Amino acid sequence: MRVACQGGSRLDLFEYQGKQYFARFGIPVSPGGVADTEEEAVARAAAAGYPVVLKAQVQVGGRGKAGGIQLASNEQEVRHHARNILGMDIRGHRVSRLWVEHASDIAHEYYASFTLDRSSKKHLGLVSAKGGVEIEQVAAEDPDAIARVEIDPVEGLSAAVARRLVDAAGLHPEARAGAADILVKLYRCFVEGDADLVEINPLILTPDGRVHALDAKVTLDDNAAFRHPEWDEYRGTQVLDPRERLAREKGLQYVGLDGSVGIIANGAGLAMSTLDVVNQVGGAPANFLDIGGGASAAVMSNALEVINADPKVRAIFINIFGGITQGQEVANGIVEALARVTLRSPIVIRLDGTNAEQGRDILSRHQSDRLISRPTMVEAARTAVELAGAAQ
Ligand code: GDP
Ligand code: MN
Repeated sequence: MRVACQGGSRLDLFEYQGKQYFARFGIPVSPGGVADTEEEAVARAAAAGYPVVLKAQVQVGGRGKAGGIQLASNEQEVRHHARNILGMDIRGHRVSRLWVEHASDIAHEYYASFTLDRSSKKHLGLVSAKGGVEIEQVAAEDPDAIARVEIDPVEGLSAAVARRLVDAAGLHPEARAGAADILVKLYRCFVEGDADLVEINPLILTPDGRVHALDAKVTLDDNAAFRHPEWDEYRGTQVLDPRERLAREKGLQYVGLDGSVGIIANGAGLAMSTLDVVNQVGGAPANFLDIGGGASAAVMSNALEVINADPKVRAIFINIFGGITQGQEVANGIVEALARVTLRSPIVIRLDGTNAEQGRDILSRHQSDRLISRPTMVEAARTAVELAGAAQ
């Protein structure tokens, strides 16, 4: 179960997903749509109504400063900005999707959020009249500009407390009723929506007196996913670590971990036991990788390629129990894979089960200090962990 936990228990949403989430709880957002191409951006802009704003969908703040947020008042400008922003690199995040929404006039920018305060075991609400900049910056420069409230999860957030919070934050009088109303909805979104964080920055007051969310940051608590079948769509757009992206492209069951022993096993159960054994003998697994039933040369070289791409890996432990997959196929797969992939790390292999003898025989012809065969799982784990340690 260790893998399930380390696999990530937070689900970060993109702005457009966060806004769609907000809208379900009645929080006002601007009309808009997503675009992955210039043509789509033009269509979304026409639907939203000019002027529009094009916004890079990356999970990193400060997109405006990086040039990832642009206003456009006609189709020509939309095309120009869409071409510029799509493909742009914003602090290591490549932009492949835009959110195009009807542009708002801004009178004032505020900040609002709810998080879980683990130390006090309560919910924490923050509101500030200084929005549009990172809240950490406000906290450092002008902490008094942030109004805080601790909320007992059992009691919830009443309209009266929400109103006191916006009063304390000193929002402009014409924004206070609308902001308090949004806070109550945002808190519902936080609790009923099973989020770890909901943040609106900026929450704006328009010149004609409306308050609404101009940005959305939502982190869902993945432990509650069983209650939310609709979250499945968010999983497909998750930003994976590069190793996991490569593994997914190659159709492998892979979870990245932090250690130095790369692991390949056939079957999820055996892969889990392999992690445990590596831990037991004092090593640290670099990953969970289940190659499933068939261990053909193609599958094996894909698996080795993914592990080889992980710079932390110092040794590779291949643990195969032949069932339907036969030992000689596995061995041939490994030998062929070694011809295709130039590995940085030595391989330790434990091969057992159907036709294991034949498989070991094939491997023994290629035995070297880069390819070591061990008869049992524990011995193989020890050797792999030693090699991983010795290589550091
Ligand atoms: P972030 O910087 O990545 O958090 O992106 P935001 O969505 O918060 O936008 C950054 C800034 O762009 C906002 O604080 C606004 O000043 C500006 N901006 C975003 N949308 C609009 C809009 O519809 N109209 C105007 N005038 N400015 C906008
Ligand atoms: Mn923002």
